[in-house]
Amino acid sequence: MKERKPKSKFLKVRCACKNEQIIFGKASAKVKCLVCGKILAEPAGGKIKVKARILEVL
Ligand SMILES: [Zn+2]
Repeated sequence: MKERKPKSKFLKVRCACKNEQIIFGKASAKVKCLVCGKILAEPAGGKIKVKARILEVL
């Protein structure tokens, strides 16, 4: 039986306002853009639902 490691990645996303921001891939609260305040990601059952464009998985 394989052991499942928790996925705790960081994601680099780009907001519609062109701001690039690093967000944690397991947020428990909504993540807002630091520039325009738009919601970039929101929690969805232990994971997050990213609403912005993902540029990179770190
Ligand atoms: Zn923004």
